[in-house]
Amino acid sequence: MKDENRETWCQSHLADQQLHQLLEKVDADLAQENCRQGCLYCHGRLHRADYDRKPRGGPQWDRRYSFCCAEEDCRRRRTPESVRFLGRRVYAGLVIVLTTAMIHGLKPARVRRIREALQIDSRTLKRWRQWWLDNFVRSSFWKAARARFMPPVCEHTLPWSLWLSFELEERDRLLAVLQFLSPMTTPAAWKELAM
Ligand SMILES: [Zn+2]
Repeated sequence: MKDENRETWCQSHLADQQLHQLLEKVDADLAQENCRQGCLYCHGRLHRADYDRKPRGGPQWDRRYSFCCAEEDCRRRRTPESVRFLGRRVYAGLVIVLTTAMIHGLKPARVRRIREALQIDSRTLKRWRQWWLDNFVRSSFWKAARARFMPPVCEHTLPWSLWLSFELEERDRLLAVLQFLSPMTTPAAWKELAM
């Protein structure tokens, strides 16, 4: 893909209302399914107990679905997987996936423009990139999941290589990547991935 195409491509996804609605719908479905299954510990009924979020640089999603067990002596949380939020990051998952995939091999001036448009400082972007190459690659999630890809995904060019391995049309592809990553977005899974 040409540099200018990649830049436009990133920006159009970030402004794509239909995509945002689609991701919201997927998260709502995941939440509903979790709720239906009940508490993981005692099978008790779950109550809504969402987390407040203020994601930067993307859609203004202000709540992450979460539940709390209704049983008096349990009260444990259950937080569904998400295609919108990547663990406790302040940026929405799609911002992180898109920018880190897109900047791979892009000229520094273009990287800077995108960074500035999204108000991401250069250290943050470097940290994200390092996270893919380091924490992500070493995670039990990735170690179990990478076998699904044939040919194997190149671990030195993540997440761009991951992006390329989903051979779908644009919007479906972004959804597929975010769905693939969703098991690692729950608080329990995220513990291992935080940096
Ligand atoms: Zn319970």
